[in-house]
Amino acid sequence: MTRIVNAFSRVSPRPLRNTFSTALRSVSELEVIAYCIETDDGIQAWGESVETPAITGDTNVAIQNALAKEIPMALIGTEFHSARATWNSAISPLDVVASAKAAVDLALYDLEAQLAEVSMNTLLGCKVESVATDVTVPIASLSEIESLVSIRLAEGFSSYKVKLGMEDLTLSLEKLLLIRSLIGNDSGLRVDANQAWSVEHSIEFLQSSSDLNIEYLEQPIISANKRGLAIISKASDTKIMADESCFTMGDMNELIDLGSADLVNLKVLKSGGITPLLEIAQRAEQAGMGISIGSMMEGDRGVTVASILAGALAPTLVHDLDAAWWAKESTIKYSDGRVWLL
Ligand SMILES: [Mg+2]
Repeated sequence: MTRIVNAFSRVSPRPLRNTFSTALRSVSELEVIAYCIETDDGIQAWGESVETPAITGDTNVAIQNALAKEIPMALIGTEFHSARATWNSAISPLDVVASAKAAVDLALYDLEAQLAEVSMNTLLGCKVESVATDVTVPIASLSEIESLVSIRLAEGFSSYKVKLGMEDLTLSLEKLLLIRSLIGNDSGLRVDANQAWSVEHSIEFLQSSSDLNIEYLEQPIISANKRGLAIISKASDTKIMADESCFTMGDMNELIDLGSADLVNLKVLKSGGITPLLEIAQRAEQAGMGISIGSMMEGDRGVTVASILAGALAPTLVHDLDAAWWAKESTIKYSDGRVWLL
Protein backbone atom coordinates (compact mmCIF):
# COMPACT_ATOMS: atom_id res chain seq x y z
CA MET A 1 0.00 0.00 0.00
CA THR A 2 1.31 3.41 -0.99
CA ARG A 3 0.28 6.63 0.72
CA ILE A 4 0.80 10.18 -0.55
CA VAL A 5 2.57 12.12 2.21
CA ASN A 6 3.76 15.39 0.67
CA ALA A 7 3.38 17.70 -2.34
CA PHE A 8 5.19 20.81 -3.50
CA SER A 9 5.62 22.93 -6.61
CA ARG A 10 8.61 24.55 -8.27
CA VAL A 11 8.47 27.30 -10.90
CA SER A 12 11.05 27.78 -13.62
CA PRO A 13 11.28 30.10 -16.63
CA ARG A 14 11.22 28.71 -20.19
CA PRO A 15 12.24 31.23 -22.85
CA LEU A 16 10.97 30.70 -26.40
CA ARG A 17 13.07 31.04 -29.56
CA ASN A 18 10.62 33.62 -30.99
CA THR A 19 7.43 35.31 -29.91
CA PHE A 20 4.45 32.99 -30.36
CA SER A 21 1.53 35.10 -31.60
CA THR A 22 -2.06 34.03 -32.14
CA ALA A 23 -5.33 35.94 -32.28
CA LEU A 24 -5.58 35.47 -28.50
CA ARG A 25 -2.11 36.30 -27.21
CA SER A 26 1.63 36.80 -27.72
CA VAL A 27 4.11 34.98 -25.53
CA SER A 28 7.92 34.96 -25.50
CA GLU A 29 8.64 33.24 -22.17
CA LEU A 30 6.68 30.77 -20.04
CA GLU A 31 6.73 30.02 -16.36
CA VAL A 32 6.54 26.26 -16.03
CA ILE A 33 5.00 25.09 -12.75
CA ALA A 34 6.34 21.63 -11.89
CA TYR A 35 4.39 19.71 -9.24
CA CYS A 36 5.80 16.88 -7.17
CA ILE A 37 3.96 14.36 -5.02
CA GLU A 38 5.89 12.20 -2.56
CA THR A 39 4.89 8.85 -1.12
CA ASP A 40 5.63 7.13 2.18
CA ASP A 41 7.90 4.70 0.31
CA GLY A 42 10.07 7.57 -0.91
CA ILE A 43 8.85 7.92 -4.50
CA GLN A 44 8.75 11.37 -6.09
CA ALA A 45 6.34 11.71 -9.02
CA TRP A 46 6.13 14.81 -11.18
CA GLY A 47 3.47 16.70 -13.07
CA GLU A 48 3.39 20.10 -14.67
CA SER A 49 1.27 23.06 -15.68
CA VAL A 50 1.48 26.52 -17.22
CA GLU A 51 -0.85 29.48 -17.08
CA THR A 52 -2.84 30.31 -20.21
CA PRO A 53 -5.13 33.11 -19.00
CA ALA A 54 -6.21 34.07 -22.55
CA ILE A 55 -7.26 30.50 -23.33
CA THR A 56 -8.29 28.66 -20.17
CA GLY A 57 -8.65 31.72 -17.93
CA ASP A 58 -6.27 30.01 -15.49
CA THR A 59 -3.58 32.28 -14.03
CA ASN A 60 -0.31 31.43 -12.29
CA VAL A 61 -1.77 32.66 -9.01
CA ALA A 62 -4.87 30.49 -9.31
CA ILE A 63 -2.86 27.40 -10.31
CA GLN A 64 -0.27 27.84 -7.57
CA ASN A 65 -2.89 28.56 -4.90
CA ALA A 66 -4.73 25.36 -5.77
CA LEU A 67 -1.49 23.36 -5.80
CA ALA A 68 -0.53 24.81 -2.40
CA LYS A 69 -3.92 24.54 -0.65
CA GLU A 70 -6.95 22.61 -1.92
CA ILE A 71 -5.07 19.89 -3.79
CA PRO A 72 -2.67 18.84 -0.97
CA MET A 73 -5.58 18.98 1.49
CA ALA A 74 -7.45 16.48 -0.69
CA LEU A 75 -4.42 14.35 -1.47
CA ILE A 76 -2.12 14.06 1.49
CA GLY A 77 -2.77 11.01 3.64
CA THR A 78 -4.73 9.19 0.90
CA GLU A 79 -3.90 5.68 -0.23
CA PHE A 80 -2.88 5.42 -3.87
CA HIS A 81 -4.29 2.64 -6.06
CA SER A 82 -4.41 4.22 -9.51
CA ALA A 83 -4.24 7.67 -11.08
CA ARG A 84 -7.78 7.37 -12.36
CA ALA A 85 -9.18 6.37 -8.95
CA THR A 86 -7.39 9.20 -7.14
CA TRP A 87 -8.35 11.76 -9.77
CA ASN A 88 -12.00 10.70 -9.62
CA SER A 89 -12.28 10.56 -5.84
CA ALA A 90 -9.98 13.36 -4.64
CA ILE A 91 -9.26 15.80 -7.49
CA SER A 92 -12.28 15.89 -9.81
CA PRO A 93 -14.71 17.19 -7.13
CA LEU A 94 -12.47 20.15 -6.21
CA ASP A 95 -13.56 23.64 -7.24
CA VAL A 96 -10.14 24.68 -8.56
CA VAL A 97 -8.80 25.61 -12.00
CA ALA A 98 -8.41 22.80 -14.57
CA SER A 99 -4.73 23.65 -15.15
CA ALA A 100 -3.98 22.78 -11.49
CA LYS A 101 -5.95 19.52 -11.72
CA ALA A 102 -3.94 18.67 -14.84
CA ALA A 103 -0.62 19.19 -13.02
CA VAL A 104 -1.55 16.78 -10.26
CA ASP A 105 -3.03 14.25 -12.68
CA LEU A 106 0.25 14.07 -14.62
CA ALA A 107 2.02 13.43 -11.31
CA LEU A 108 -0.50 10.70 -10.44
CA TYR A 109 0.12 8.92 -13.76
CA ASP A 110 3.88 9.25 -13.23
CA LEU A 111 3.41 7.66 -9.81
CA GLU A 112 1.34 4.82 -11.27
CA ALA A 113 4.00 4.17 -13.92
CA GLN A 114 6.79 4.16 -11.33
CA LEU A 115 4.91 1.79 -9.01
CA ALA A 116 4.17 -0.58 -11.92
CA GLU A 117 7.78 -0.22 -13.11
CA VAL A 118 6.68 0.63 -16.64
CA SER A 119 7.21 3.66 -18.85
CA MET A 120 4.50 6.28 -19.32
CA ASN A 121 4.28 5.06 -22.96
CA THR A 122 3.43 1.55 -21.77
CA LEU A 123 1.03 2.78 -19.10
CA LEU A 124 -0.91 4.89 -21.61
CA GLY A 125 -0.80 2.26 -24.38
CA CYS A 126 1.49 4.09 -26.81
CA LYS A 127 3.28 1.62 -29.07
CA VAL A 128 4.96 4.01 -31.53
CA GLU A 129 8.37 5.68 -31.29
CA SER A 130 7.33 8.94 -32.93
CA VAL A 131 4.24 10.92 -33.83
CA ALA A 132 3.73 13.28 -36.77
CA THR A 133 3.18 16.90 -35.80
CA ASP A 134 2.44 20.17 -37.49
CA VAL A 135 4.47 23.29 -36.81
CA THR A 136 2.85 26.63 -36.13
CA VAL A 137 3.30 29.68 -38.34
CA PRO A 138 2.34 32.46 -35.92
CA ILE A 139 0.41 35.58 -36.87
CA ALA A 140 2.81 37.53 -39.05
CA SER A 141 2.89 40.15 -41.76
CA LEU A 142 3.13 39.10 -45.40
CA SER A 143 6.78 40.17 -45.55
CA GLU A 144 7.74 37.98 -42.54
CA ILE A 145 6.21 34.79 -43.86
CA GLU A 146 8.93 33.61 -46.22
CA SER A 147 11.64 33.53 -43.55
CA LEU A 148 9.29 31.94 -40.96
CA VAL A 149 8.37 29.16 -43.38
CA SER A 150 11.95 28.56 -44.61
CA ILE A 151 13.18 27.94 -41.06
CA ARG A 152 10.45 25.33 -40.59
CA LEU A 153 11.05 23.70 -43.98
CA ALA A 154 14.76 23.46 -43.24
CA GLU A 155 13.94 21.63 -40.00
CA GLY A 156 11.95 19.00 -41.84
CA PHE A 157 8.36 19.93 -41.00
CA SER A 158 5.76 18.95 -43.57
CA SER A 159 2.53 20.12 -41.94
CA TYR A 160 1.86 23.79 -41.22
CA LYS A 161 -0.67 25.27 -38.82
CA VAL A 162 -1.14 28.88 -39.85
CA LYS A 163 -2.47 31.29 -37.25
CA LEU A 164 -4.67 34.03 -38.68
CA GLY A 165 -6.43 36.92 -36.99
CA MET A 166 -9.21 39.24 -38.08
CA GLU A 167 -7.94 41.04 -41.16
CA ASP A 168 -8.99 41.67 -44.73
CA LEU A 169 -9.90 38.35 -46.33
CA THR A 170 -7.75 39.03 -49.38
CA LEU A 171 -4.70 39.51 -47.13
CA SER A 172 -5.32 36.17 -45.38
CA LEU A 173 -5.64 34.46 -48.75
CA GLU A 174 -2.48 36.14 -50.03
CA LYS A 175 -0.57 34.83 -46.99
CA LEU A 176 -1.89 31.31 -47.46
CA LEU A 177 -1.13 31.33 -51.20
CA LEU A 178 2.43 32.37 -50.42
CA ILE A 179 2.77 29.63 -47.78
CA ARG A 180 1.32 27.01 -50.15
CA SER A 181 3.81 28.07 -52.85
CA LEU A 182 6.69 27.76 -50.35
CA ILE A 183 5.73 24.40 -48.84
CA GLY A 184 4.49 22.76 -52.06
CA ASN A 185 1.35 20.74 -52.68
CA ASP A 186 2.40 17.67 -50.70
CA SER A 187 2.65 19.42 -47.32
CA GLY A 188 -0.29 19.79 -44.99
CA LEU A 189 -1.84 23.23 -44.49
CA ARG A 190 -4.28 23.91 -41.68
CA VAL A 191 -5.63 27.21 -40.41
CA ASP A 192 -6.37 28.28 -36.82
CA ALA A 193 -8.19 31.60 -36.29
CA ASN A 194 -8.42 31.19 -32.49
CA GLN A 195 -11.97 32.60 -32.31
CA ALA A 196 -11.17 35.85 -34.15
CA TRP A 197 -13.73 35.57 -36.95
CA SER A 198 -17.49 35.85 -37.42
CA VAL A 199 -19.65 33.10 -38.90
CA GLU A 200 -19.99 35.11 -42.12
CA HIS A 201 -16.26 35.78 -42.42
CA SER A 202 -15.52 32.08 -41.83
CA ILE A 203 -17.92 30.95 -44.56
CA GLU A 204 -16.56 33.54 -46.96
CA PHE A 205 -13.02 32.40 -46.16
CA LEU A 206 -13.89 28.76 -46.81
CA GLN A 207 -15.60 29.60 -50.10
CA SER A 208 -12.61 31.63 -51.30
CA SER A 209 -9.90 29.21 -50.19
CA SER A 210 -11.09 26.01 -51.87
CA ASP A 211 -8.04 25.95 -54.20
CA LEU A 212 -5.58 25.94 -51.30
CA ASN A 213 -6.31 22.38 -50.16
CA ILE A 214 -6.76 23.35 -46.51
CA GLU A 215 -7.03 20.25 -44.31
CA TYR A 216 -9.17 21.94 -41.71
CA LEU A 217 -10.20 25.27 -40.25
CA GLU A 218 -9.77 25.34 -36.48
CA GLN A 219 -11.92 27.33 -34.07
CA PRO A 220 -12.80 30.23 -36.38
CA ILE A 221 -15.39 31.79 -34.06
CA ILE A 222 -15.92 32.56 -30.38
CA SER A 223 -15.85 29.42 -28.26
CA ALA A 224 -19.36 29.72 -26.79
CA ASN A 225 -21.02 29.84 -30.22
CA LYS A 226 -21.21 26.12 -30.93
CA ARG A 227 -24.35 26.67 -33.00
CA GLY A 228 -22.41 29.07 -35.22
CA LEU A 229 -19.71 26.44 -35.61
CA ALA A 230 -22.40 24.02 -36.81
CA ILE A 231 -23.59 26.57 -39.40
CA ILE A 232 -20.01 26.90 -40.71
CA SER A 233 -19.57 23.10 -40.77
CA LYS A 234 -22.72 22.63 -42.82
CA ALA A 235 -21.78 25.41 -45.24
CA SER A 236 -18.44 23.92 -46.28
CA ASP A 237 -16.74 20.71 -47.35
CA THR A 238 -13.57 21.73 -45.52
CA LYS A 239 -13.35 20.04 -42.14
CA ILE A 240 -13.95 22.16 -39.04
CA MET A 241 -12.00 21.57 -35.83
CA ALA A 242 -13.19 22.67 -32.38
CA ASP A 243 -10.48 23.70 -29.91
CA GLU A 244 -11.45 26.43 -27.44
CA SER A 245 -15.08 25.22 -27.78
CA CYS A 246 -14.15 21.90 -26.17
CA PHE A 247 -12.90 21.90 -22.59
CA THR A 248 -15.25 19.48 -20.84
CA MET A 249 -17.42 16.43 -21.50
CA GLY A 250 -20.41 18.82 -21.47
CA ASP A 251 -18.79 20.78 -24.32
CA MET A 252 -18.08 17.55 -26.20
CA ASN A 253 -21.69 16.41 -25.89
CA GLU A 254 -22.97 19.77 -27.11
CA LEU A 255 -20.61 19.74 -30.12
CA ILE A 256 -21.83 16.26 -31.04
CA ASP A 257 -25.53 17.10 -30.58
CA LEU A 258 -25.27 20.23 -32.72
CA GLY A 259 -22.99 18.71 -35.37
CA SER A 260 -20.58 21.59 -34.79
CA ALA A 261 -17.31 20.03 -35.88
CA ASP A 262 -15.67 17.15 -37.73
CA LEU A 263 -12.60 17.20 -35.52
CA VAL A 264 -11.64 18.20 -32.01
CA ASN A 265 -8.29 19.33 -30.61
CA LEU A 266 -7.83 17.87 -27.11
CA LYS A 267 -5.30 19.21 -24.59
CA VAL A 268 -4.53 17.99 -21.08
CA LEU A 269 -4.58 21.50 -19.61
CA LYS A 270 -8.03 22.26 -21.02
CA SER A 271 -9.66 19.08 -19.77
CA GLY A 272 -7.93 19.10 -16.38
CA GLY A 273 -5.82 15.97 -16.76
CA ILE A 274 -5.20 12.72 -18.58
CA THR A 275 -8.19 10.96 -16.99
CA PRO A 276 -10.85 13.42 -18.25
CA LEU A 277 -9.08 13.78 -21.63
CA LEU A 278 -9.29 10.02 -22.20
CA GLU A 279 -13.01 10.07 -21.39
CA ILE A 280 -13.66 12.99 -23.75
CA ALA A 281 -11.59 11.30 -26.49
CA GLN A 282 -13.62 8.11 -26.13
CA ARG A 283 -16.88 10.05 -26.45
CA ALA A 284 -15.58 11.81 -29.59
CA GLU A 285 -14.58 8.51 -31.18
CA GLN A 286 -17.96 6.95 -30.40
CA ALA A 287 -19.61 9.87 -32.20
CA GLY A 288 -17.33 9.49 -35.23
CA MET A 289 -15.49 12.73 -34.56
CA GLY A 290 -11.77 12.81 -35.40
CA ILE A 291 -9.41 13.71 -32.56
CA SER A 292 -6.16 15.59 -32.59
CA ILE A 293 -3.95 15.94 -29.53
CA GLY A 294 -2.37 19.31 -28.93
CA SER A 295 -0.67 21.17 -26.15
CA MET A 296 -0.36 24.73 -24.95
CA MET A 297 3.02 26.43 -25.05
CA GLU A 298 4.25 24.37 -22.11
CA GLY A 299 7.15 22.49 -20.59
CA ASP A 300 8.77 19.25 -21.75
CA ARG A 301 6.75 17.08 -19.36
CA GLY A 302 3.45 18.38 -20.69
CA VAL A 303 4.50 18.06 -24.34
CA THR A 304 5.83 14.54 -23.75
CA VAL A 305 2.57 13.37 -22.19
CA ALA A 306 0.55 14.97 -25.01
CA SER A 307 2.76 13.19 -27.57
CA ILE A 308 2.35 9.85 -25.80
CA LEU A 309 -1.43 10.34 -25.73
CA ALA A 310 -1.36 11.16 -29.46
CA GLY A 311 0.65 7.99 -30.11
CA ALA A 312 -1.79 5.94 -28.02
CA LEU A 313 -5.06 7.37 -29.33
CA ALA A 314 -4.36 8.18 -32.98
CA PRO A 315 -0.84 7.10 -33.98
CA THR A 316 -1.30 7.69 -37.72
CA LEU A 317 -2.62 11.28 -37.60
CA VAL A 318 -0.66 14.54 -37.74
CA HIS A 319 -1.09 16.18 -34.33
CA ASP A 320 -0.28 19.60 -32.87
CA LEU A 321 2.77 18.90 -30.71
CA ASP A 322 5.34 21.52 -31.73
CA ALA A 323 5.34 23.45 -28.42
CA ALA A 324 8.73 22.13 -27.27
CA TRP A 325 10.27 23.05 -30.65
CA TRP A 326 9.49 26.67 -29.73
CA ALA A 327 11.54 26.50 -26.53
CA LYS A 328 15.12 27.76 -26.59
CA GLU A 329 16.10 24.62 -24.71
CA SER A 330 14.29 21.30 -24.69
CA THR A 331 15.16 17.62 -24.36
CA ILE A 332 12.46 16.72 -26.88
CA LYS A 333 13.69 15.86 -30.35
CA TYR A 334 11.93 16.85 -33.56
CA SER A 335 12.93 15.63 -37.01
CA ASP A 336 11.22 14.72 -40.31
CA GLY A 337 8.04 16.42 -39.12
CA ARG A 338 7.79 14.10 -36.12
CA VAL A 339 8.18 14.35 -32.36
CA TRP A 340 10.24 11.47 -30.99
CA LEU A 341 9.22 9.62 -27.84
CA LEU A 342 12.46 7.80 -27.13
MG1 LIG B 1 -6.08 25.98 -31.57
